Amino acid sequence: MPPLKNDCFALPPGVHWTPVDEALADLRTRLSCVVGEEVLPVADALDRILATDITAPRAHPPLPNTAVDGYGFLNGRGEGDHHIPLVAQHMPAGATPDASVPAGTAIRILTGAALPPGVDTVILQEDVTVEDDAIHFTGPIKQGANTRKAGEDVEAGDVIAQAGRRLTPADLALLSAVGVAEVRVRRSLRVGILSTGDELVQPGDDAGPGQIYDANRPMLRGLIARLGHVPVDLGHVVDDREVLRARLDQGAEQADVIFTSGGASAGDADHVSALLNEAGAMALWRVAIKPGRPLALGIWQGKPVFGLPGNPVAAMVCTLVFGAPALSLLAGADWKSPQGFMVPAGFAKTKKAGRREFLRARMRAGQVEVFASEGSGRISGLSWAEGLVELPDEAMSVRQGDLVRFIPWAGFGA
Ligand code: AMP
Ligand code: MG
Repeated sequence: MPPLKNDCFALPPGVHWTPVDEALADLRTRLSCVVGEEVLPVADALDRILATDITAPRAHPPLPNTAVDGYGFLNGRGEGDHHIPLVAQHMPAGATPDASVPAGTAIRILTGAALPPGVDTVILQEDVTVEDDAIHFTGPIKQGANTRKAGEDVEAGDVIAQAGRRLTPADLALLSAVGVAEVRVRRSLRVGILSTGDELVQPGDDAGPGQIYDANRPMLRGLIARLGHVPVDLGHVVDDREVLRARLDQGAEQADVIFTSGGASAGDADHVSALLNEAGAMALWRVAIKPGRPLALGIWQGKPVFGLPGNPVAAMVCTLVFGAPALSLLAGADWKSPQGFMVPAGFAKTKKAGRREFLRARMRAGQVEVFASEGSGRISGLSWAEGLVELPDEAMSVRQGDLVRFIPWAGFGA
């Protein structure tokens, strides 16, 4: 793994407001995998990222088989009544097809059983009557009916999952179905989470009149876990440069990447940006996004640091929009663009050009509704929402019923 370069977040001089797509394209070209590999049993590999392509060692299904419970014989039959004598054997699922079924006879066969030699067609048991050791039915039935071909799902040697893919429950089924027992995956990405600010106290502690409770840390821990990474809680530090320095040092040892919240702008108490600056590896990304504040991106002891805004709404939106795809690359997965859907607006709104806007939103009765207040301090709106509406950089006038882009939390991978 090549280490990330110290200047990997540098911005061209003179840039004031970077459009969201440009910021994303920058992250995409500059970030790469920072974690090693390990081998895991497939059953333990849910949500892990494949380090190699996986080739099917065996076909699925391995042999032609029957899709139904019924009776198997050779060739289809035309219109009219048919009578086919039954052989004595049965073909349950899992049995090895050995003896051939003689021409002009049929065999009792159960779902999933391999077709014995001499059988290429199966009639559903509900479509026959069995009498005098023979089946009786009315045609037609096509040759091949109710059967599955060997390898019709997967051929041996097919690439069934590619490096960079995050394994889903269905992937575990597919890998298991072709006999893959172990997979080489990326080690989990450890994401350090640190809250900064003199005003913060922890729930359970006494809060002075001017103090507020630390809301970002549990939220970010939750988001990181939902995104499939391992949150490493680095606690809270007051606005003291030396305390923060020591905690970042500790974080760089414990985590592969650090997310801080608060102190990321360029004010007096903004020690995150000041320290990253001092380390000589900081860029203050002013992205044209609402809600959002500058993001301080830097490298601390070789580890990338994302200095998120302190405001919980901005912190969450920035984590979903920039953090999620960035972490995906650092974790060895493919770049992920959020998956949104064009749906009718259940609201009206006018926006100016120059900033991309994300509104707290949810789907109800086939329309997307947005939270009553866009106030960026409203955590209740985050909790109310089930996703975000994304409005483009350009000016826009949305009327009730117009199509707008809704991205559910899951569309961000969270
Ligand atoms: P800052 O980015 O440090 O200027 O903080 C911006 C706003 O977010 C201020 O009102 C902070 O009090 C608030 N804030 C910062 N960190 C947190 C946090 N962990 N939980 C809740 N609010 C926070
Ligand atoms: Mg602060």
